[in-house]
Amino acid sequence: MQCPKVVLFDLDDTLADSFESPTKEMNARIVRLLERLPIAIITGRDFPWMARDFLPQIAAEGHMERFYVFPEGAAQCFQWDGREWKEIYGWSISEEDHTRIRKAVLESVEETGVLKGLPCFGEQFVQKRAMMAFAALGINVSPDLKYSWDPDNKRRATLRDAIAAKLPEFDVLMGGATSTDVTKKGVNKARGVEWLSKHLNIPAAEMLYIGDALYPGGNDSVVIPTGIQTRPVTGPEETLTVIDELLSVCGN
Ligand SMILES: [Mg+2]
Repeated sequence: MQCPKVVLFDLDDTLADSFESPTKEMNARIVRLLERLPIAIITGRDFPWMARDFLPQIAAEGHMERFYVFPEGAAQCFQWDGREWKEIYGWSISEEDHTRIRKAVLESVEETGVLKGLPCFGEQFVQKRAMMAFAALGINVSPDLKYSWDPDNKRRATLRDAIAAKLPEFDVLMGGATSTDVTKKGVNKARGVEWLSKHLNIPAAEMLYIGDALYPGGNDSVVIPTGIQTRPVTGPEETLTVIDELLSVCGN
């Protein structure tokens, strides 16, 4: 591996297990890598959670002038200015549109009948600033059911198509194992990569993206057409070893 000019990380199942925080060990590695080159975290998670949870540990020690956070699939970009997190750019969906999205989703569920007879565990809608996620079986569904209810993706594809037909001005994509994500059109991780490339004046081909879902249809795979180098990982354990490799090829 050659030393890239910039490293971008996915968060879930790359820097941390799903819905968990990066470990102290991982944060320490990020801080060490930041001493050598610019780093970005580009994730579907929303910003308030990260800013409360693990970002303060990095902000306390890192070279923050070259650290970028792109939450909600790069709908926003934040940087630490020494005192607080500053929004560099940001997209939102209006309250009115959020209401319209909920209505379109509920109508689609009714019309397609894909959830008929299935149980639901907790809240189904997860509303973020620039994104609405619909968790078909609720956010508290058990892992067993989550991975068995729709093994061939048929139900989710049917639901996705029905929602997309009602909301032509949004992107509607299959997210996690039960979820459908509605976002502003064209706002995705690829856009974050392109923004950073332009901002730093470094071609995407000289940057490296590390993620667990770079396979076809995976939510990291959208970055591939930007020309960025990619390194698939199976989880945080492997990411630690990739960072160690980077630390050795990127010298001091
Ligand atoms: Mg991931």
